[in-house]
Amino acid sequence: MGIFSGLKDILGQINKIDGSIYLKGKDFADVYAKNIALEEEIAARTKELEQANQTILTLSSVWEMMNSSQPLSNMLDKIVSILNDDLNYNFVTILKLETEGKEGPFLSIKSSSSDKILSSIFTILNESKETYKIPYLENSIIAKSINEKKIYSTPDIKGVLRMFFPKLSEEQINEKIALMTSKSCAIVPLYSNNLNFGCVLVSSERTALGDTENNFLSLFANQIELAITVAGLFEEVRKQAITDPLTGIFNRRYFEENIVKEAERSLRLKQPFSLISMDLDYLKRINDTFGHQYGDIAIKTIANIMKREARSIDIPARIGGEEFNLLLPGVDSKGALIAAERIRKSIENQVIDTIGGITASIGIATFLEHSDRIDELTELADQAMYKAKMNGRNQVQVAQLNGDTDWQKIAIDAFIDILTKNRIPVSDNISSIIKSKLETVQTENKNANEILYSVADIISQTYNQMYKTGTTKAKLLLAIMLAKKLELPKDETDKLKLAILLYDIGNIMIPEEILNKKGPLTEEEKQIIKRHPVIAAREILKPISNIEDIIPIIENHHENWDGKGYPSNKSGNQIPITSQIVLLVDSFYAMAQDRPYRKAYTSDEIIDIIKNESGQRWNEKLVEDFIDIVKNERI
Ligand code: GH3
Ligand code: MG
Repeated sequence: MGIFSGLKDILGQINKIDGSIYLKGKDFADVYAKNIALEEEIAARTKELEQANQTILTLSSVWEMMNSSQPLSNMLDKIVSILNDDLNYNFVTILKLETEGKEGPFLSIKSSSSDKILSSIFTILNESKETYKIPYLENSIIAKSINEKKIYSTPDIKGVLRMFFPKLSEEQINEKIALMTSKSCAIVPLYSNNLNFGCVLVSSERTALGDTENNFLSLFANQIELAITVAGLFEEVRKQAITDPLTGIFNRRYFEENIVKEAERSLRLKQPFSLISMDLDYLKRINDTFGHQYGDIAIKTIANIMKREARSIDIPARIGGEEFNLLLPGVDSKGALIAAERIRKSIENQVIDTIGGITASIGIATFLEHSDRIDELTELADQAMYKAKMNGRNQVQVAQLNGDTDWQKIAIDAFIDILTKNRIPVSDNISSIIKSKLETVQTENKNANEILYSVADIISQTYNQMYKTGTTKAKLLLAIMLAKKLELPKDETDKLKLAILLYDIGNIMIPEEILNKKGPLTEEEKQIIKRHPVIAAREILKPISNIEDIIPIIENHHENWDGKGYPSNKSGNQIPITSQIVLLVDSFYAMAQDRPYRKAYTSDEIIDIIKNESGQRWNEKLVEDFIDIVKNERI
């Protein structure tokens, strides 16, 4: 083979390869183009899938919400936030078509995304979003959408704004439009049980709605409609379950659920609430004289008056046949007394056809004031109501502090026992003054506290001329405040009250010369002083059987935290907390009074002295609480 033919051959082959390369290249280009098309298709399908997925997720969250029996307003808020956040609409609002009312139909905003521009418009108009009425115009896009049950979209944002806020000037509208990024909005009609509910309005930065979006919105609307219908039904069922059918006020169940919540809140915030318990007077007579239906009218009249006189946060309820309760959140017994009196007067002044007038008896008990337990509170309000019945009906009575009667009675009995058995050296004259005071408590059944304070004051004054009237009361109040801060249980606090009235009684056995001595005491004299808590407890109080429990409090009321007190050198928690309180209260008021050997200290000086001895004479925690009280309560 010649060189040329060889070359030719090679060239031929190269051409062949070239050609095939060219052919392959063409194939590649085809494949490449196909690939791109495929990729685009995959991207489009993925997008659709994602959208479908989003739709399913969204619909399923609406579905979940529906099954959670939430109030309608919560559901609507959730729907708005889904459309707003997850589905990227700029602004979303759910409008309800209101047709009842004199001024004709209008749209109210049931829920909407928070929007600065919208808020600024409400500020300009001096309106609130919750009460604003959007005109419902016959030919508006909203009316068309609702009437035709069809989704409408429009790029005319300005027109929609004008329809919403006809009171805005053209300038104001232009100014707001300039700030908006939305390019179009869509109105999606909403129906519930085939009745117009209203519509959802969404706006977006796109200029028009695509078919997919349209389909999605109508699917979404179906779910919203279902949610509205279900929530509406729940609301209806709930309403029936919490109201009393005869009077339309709350029923017992609702009341009981709410008093529990109120008690929790009250304990948490340390804020009282009051319970008013009310019973119609002589209902049986009304039934017997005029017939049962008139009895019912009397019951309804009371319920209406309660509803009318109550604030929106109060809970008026029919508890039984002719028994009503009214819960007054945040109201103390003074406030409740005013409210109850107002209700009582309204009932008394109401004239009812055929029956004439009716009256009611009312009892009040206040949480945190009279009790911090619900069962006890209800019982106390009932007792107060019965007291109102017993005292002649048509009146209001406030609960007696529960247990107060108990500790007061024990204190009165103890004083009478001490005096009649001459357990302390007081003159006959003083003894008879005290006894007659105590008897007035027993006969007139009032002012027990004041009389007990004055009796304790008189006894203290017989050994200490400088003892000021009113000191016992002040001591008792300080002791109660400390007990409250330390969260002592009620029976411990009651014992403490008794101890405050009686602990000082041993001092009366200390000879006057020692008490009034100006110079330093001898060792023997000191021993006598140190025995006084024991004398008081063992010799005077022990024989009185129902005050046994307070004897350890009194015996230990001169023991010190560091063990350097008397008579037993007890220390720390060996000393009952009630004794520690008595010591602190006693010392505080002793320092505030003149003594033969020194002048009275000022409040600030006393606080300094007590602070200095914190951890020695007194328990540190107690001193902290004490300083807190003295600073805040102006003792
Ligand atoms: P008081 O002043 O002591 O409360 O006298 P009263 O007659 O109202 O009280 P009493 O407890 O003796 O009687 C209550 C009556 O109320 C008996 C009961 O038949 C009647 N009653 C209870 N529920 C209803 C009701 O729903 N409608 C009517 N008409 N009467 C009722
Ligand atoms: Mg009655």
